[in-house]
Amino acid sequence: MLYYSTRGLEDSKNFSEVLHSGLAGDGGLFVPKFIPHLNQEILNQWRHLSYEELALEIISLFSGDCFSRVELSEIVNESYSAFDHELKSPLIKLEDNHYFLELFHGPTLAFKDFAMQVIARMFAKTLQKKDLKINIITATSGDTGSAAVEAFKGISNVNLYVLYPHERISQIQRKQMTTSNAKNVKVFAVQGTFDDCQSIVKELFADKALVSDVNLSGVNSINWARILVQIIYYFSAFYQLKELSAGKLSFSVPTGNFGDAYAGYVSKRMGLPINKIIVATNKNDILDRVFKTGVYKSDNVSKTLSPSMDIQVASNFERLLFDLLSNDTKEVRKLMNNLSNKGHFNLEKKILTRISKDFDSGTVTDNETIAIINHFYNEKEIVLCPHSAIGVRVAKDFIDTGETVVSLGTAHPAKFKETVESALEVNIPIPPALEIIMEKQESLRVIPPNKNKVAEEIRKSYLKGN
Ligand SMILES: *Cc1c(COP(=O)(O)O)cnc(C)c1O
Repeated sequence: MLYYSTRGLEDSKNFSEVLHSGLAGDGGLFVPKFIPHLNQEILNQWRHLSYEELALEIISLFSGDCFSRVELSEIVNESYSAFDHELKSPLIKLEDNHYFLELFHGPTLAFKDFAMQVIARMFAKTLQKKDLKINIITATSGDTGSAAVEAFKGISNVNLYVLYPHERISQIQRKQMTTSNAKNVKVFAVQGTFDDCQSIVKELFADKALVSDVNLSGVNSINWARILVQIIYYFSAFYQLKELSAGKLSFSVPTGNFGDAYAGYVSKRMGLPINKIIVATNKNDILDRVFKTGVYKSDNVSKTLSPSMDIQVASNFERLLFDLLSNDTKEVRKLMNNLSNKGHFNLEKKILTRISKDFDSGTVTDNETIAIINHFYNEKEIVLCPHSAIGVRVAKDFIDTGETVVSLGTAHPAKFKETVESALEVNIPIPPALEIIMEKQESLRVIPPNKNKVAEEIRKSYLKGN
């Protein structure tokens, strides 16, 4: 499988090159040359596969000759061995027509573990084969960073640099990142928002000298491999649901950077019978606004009770744009230039009509988030994390119309203990894995939101060698 940049100014790349480069050299995102379409027969054959077997089938459709089947099978089996549920992503019933996909059974208790565990092993394997060393930079609104630290700590050919917005993530998220004690991990608290962290990452990638000197790579959801590995649980949900419901199926996805929702869209394009991907946002509602009005305009980032979604510029939207504009890379460049120069771009009516075939959306306030957490605790004794609560709240508007909706449970409530406890006025237990880190010594640096400062820090300590 070959990959192209959404901006059309980069040579095509194979899977391992895409894995290693993160962002394309022209500032665009890599997309596969085509999305394989699965017929009914294959969909039926896959029904009885385990999660790992399903992962093997789906990843190998996109990874070309990068790994042998045996290697890929090892990678997948090891990746999911630390998950604490046999199904990895169990589906539970919330209420009539409404199901909940629990994506928080991995080591750092958020859905980011699903992809990060796999791609860390993909990095380790491919770097070892080529005797390469790489330096990874990632911006995080909290959960990507903790999943990345957990997955990459101790991997010898990799240094990991994490940027998170200072004082804008939960205490547990911070501790998960800062207590690894791993020599190959450096964590920076940036005095700014997630969008500042993400734009520093993009600026670092635009610094060609730095990229080649330190062999820079990224593991945000701008990295295609992350998206690929997230497709798997949409299939898993579909197979679990088949036994339970016959209705039209949609997924409600708590959304920030649009990676998870975009993975759902790709699974629909692969032939999974999905009606809509419902994009659920908090007050940072740029996607809800663009779907409803056609205007993509970033606003200031608001701090909410769902910090992992406090994002305005939803990077993966560029991948959808590329599709909506029928792969017209010149037009993608034009819109993205408008966004960086004028702060916005507008989509034509016919594009909005296309979006509405695959997507719906809704926005949830902090008060509504608290109300829905209370509702499910009081009615069903189910404790939702604030992000998952947003997906569940938006889904409610659709189940009333008779549709079956699967809401994605993106994190374990204990990760956002302060918020959930104050919403419910009860103490919630912390899983043992989190208890251990509460006592550990933290290591981090607070830095200004400045690309040069980060570049300087990386140059001081990067892993040298081809
Ligand atoms: C990352 C994250 C999201 C948002 O996912 P995107 O792929 O960035 O849209 C939602 N909820 C939680 C708990 C997260 O960690």
